[in-house]
Amino acid sequence: MKCIFCSIVEKEREAAYVYEDKDFIAIMDKYPINIGHTLVLPKRHYSTLLDMPLNEISKLFVLTAHLAKAVVRSVNSDGFSIGQNNGEAANQLIPHVHVHIVPRHINDMTKWASRRFVTFEQLILVAEQIKNRLVVEEINNKPVI
Ligand SMILES: [Zn+2]
Repeated sequence: MKCIFCSIVEKEREAAYVYEDKDFIAIMDKYPINIGHTLVLPKRHYSTLLDMPLNEISKLFVLTAHLAKAVVRSVNSDGFSIGQNNGEAANQLIPHVHVHIVPRHINDMTKWASRRFVTFEQLILVAEQIKNRLVVEEINNKPVI
C-alpha cells in the first residue's frame, strides 16, 4: 500500500493544508492531541531522520519553528510541544518523516512521555557513547562539542 503522506503530497488523498513549498508541506493532524496540532513533512519520502540529508533536516526544523509561531498565534495557546518520532519503537505511526507541532495550554492535562531517574554517572556514560558515534564529517568537519 502506498505511503499515506506521499499520497497527500501528490494530492491523491485529502488533507487540511497549512503550508506548501517545493520541498515541504504542513497539514493538520487528522487525530489532534490539541486543536491546532500540525504536521510538517518533506515532500520526498524518507522513512526516518536517519535517511534524510542533514541540510534538509535543517530546513525542516527551521520551517517547523516558523510554522509554530503561526500555530501558537492562531489557537492562542500558552505554549507548544515539538514531537518527532522515528521507528515503530518510538510510536512512529506513518513511516514518512514528520514533525508534530502540538499547541499546549496551561492545565491541558496532555502528558509528555514519563521520565526516568538515573545517576549522573549513567548520564555521563551515555553522553560519551553518543559523542563517540557522532560522524564529524557530516557536521561540516567541525566537532560540535
Ligand atoms: Zn511517503
